[in-house]
Amino acid sequence: MTNSKDYQKNILIVGGGFAGISCVKGLADCPATVTLIDQRNYHLFQPLLYQVATAVLSPADISSPIRHMLRNQKNVRVGLGRLTGVNLQQKFAQFPKIKAHYDYLVLATGARDFYFGNEEWAHLAPGLKTIDDALEIRRRVLLAYEEAEWEADEESRRAKLTFVVVGGGPTGVEMAGALKEIAAQTIPKDFRHIDTTTARVILVEGSDQLLGGMPKKLGDRARKDLEAMGVEVRLNSLVTDLKSGIVSIGAEDLPAENIIWAAGVKASLVGETLNTALDPAGRVRVTPDLTIPGHPDVFVIGDLAYVEDSQTGKSVPGVAPAAIQMGQYVAKVIRQEIENHESATNRTAYTYQDKGTMATIGRNKAVAEIRGHSFYGFFAWLLWCIVHLIPLVDYRSRLSVIFSWVGSYFSFAKNARLITGNPEVKVKKLRRD
Ligand SMILES: Cc1cc2nc3c(=O)[nH]c(=O)nc-3n(C[C@H](O)[C@H](O)[C@H](O)COP(=O)(O)OP(=O)(O)OC[C@H]3O[C@@H](n4cnc5c(N)ncnc54)[C@H](O)[C@@H]3O)c2cc1C
Repeated sequence: MTNSKDYQKNILIVGGGFAGISCVKGLADCPATVTLIDQRNYHLFQPLLYQVATAVLSPADISSPIRHMLRNQKNVRVGLGRLTGVNLQQKFAQFPKIKAHYDYLVLATGARDFYFGNEEWAHLAPGLKTIDDALEIRRRVLLAYEEAEWEADEESRRAKLTFVVVGGGPTGVEMAGALKEIAAQTIPKDFRHIDTTTARVILVEGSDQLLGGMPKKLGDRARKDLEAMGVEVRLNSLVTDLKSGIVSIGAEDLPAENIIWAAGVKASLVGETLNTALDPAGRVRVTPDLTIPGHPDVFVIGDLAYVEDSQTGKSVPGVAPAAIQMGQYVAKVIRQEIENHESATNRTAYTYQDKGTMATIGRNKAVAEIRGHSFYGFFAWLLWCIVHLIPLVDYRSRLSVIFSWVGSYFSFAKNARLITGNPEVKVKKLRRD
């Protein structure tokens, strides 16, 4: 029989993204059994996904097997599975093959693309959330040039060489800049019949500024830089319909065969299974200690959580540093309670340390806002590189990214310019959750 003194609490963490991994790491050496379960076997560094979509980096550069990352943390068990529901009363989480009981549950399943009720658009306009998305975008972009090279009809060739990015947030701005660079700098010499520099890249944004979450002057600067590169920026413009080969922007039907969705995100479906209050983006409204109201043993963190900062009252943004800080906070709370045999009544509220935001615009341009200071151009781009390189989980990956970036910076080459899958299949459907 187990002595109650020997009983080790079970901490179940679902989701091995920024939030989940930082929570697991914060629980190193904690006298508890920590179980991390993710539907994928790897951690993905999402901020560099667009570099995979635009053929600069390979998938392995920005991802790392979770099991390997946590191999030295002896109190951790890793599992592969997709959470389908939680029984809050009986304290177990349901996966297709197992039921996992918990004393503490940490939900960190992130966000997914959102098409504002037009889910049928997903296969016409892939979003950029997963490695599969990035590879599909890369495939479509490279295929578009291949097809245009042998297209005799002028109108149809123009449509193949028209790229529309929907949504002017950081992902849209980064994608639009990178697509224009591919067309204007990377591949012109590779083709004989087409002039790739004439490819149109159109960035469509519904509001009156790019980079909506950042100060207006940064959005204006991003717009200026993109326009100088040849990107057509359309503000106050809404995509009203998508059909194969046609994007409707307001009353205009624009022939365009390549559409990329960067317009909306919604929290992972896990939130909807909890029977608790959600915000309009599907995020779980958590209490100041990041738990579900009435369930102090169930934490929700990262992009899945809606929380207002206890000091500023503003909602904490869905960015990697916030997710990491939430994971660290929860690890500290749980560790303290287990180690000191404390109850859940002594918790201090979570506070977000805003370390700034940034977005790249091209090969050596970016905008950044750090502690109230704005940075532009090459310096901001250097900052962006450093910020994104340092957290890359493993050393091998960091080195390979440095080589790929430095290589492509000086040579304008794109290292991973492979069309994978069957080129005859124009539109591959991806799972969107
Ligand atoms: C293209 C792109 C660019 C970005 N750029 C930046 C940037 O420059 N700077 C920045 O700070 N932030 C950026 N972000 C946002 C940042 O990546 C997120 O805020 C951060 O990843 C959130 O971390 P998370 O742990 O909550 O979720 P995620 O990192 O998304 O991790 C969620 C994990 O949960 C798993 N999961 C999901 N559902 C289930 C389920 N049902 N069962 C089991 N496992 C599940 C997933 O497989 C995944 O591993 C970017 C995001 C994207 C998509």
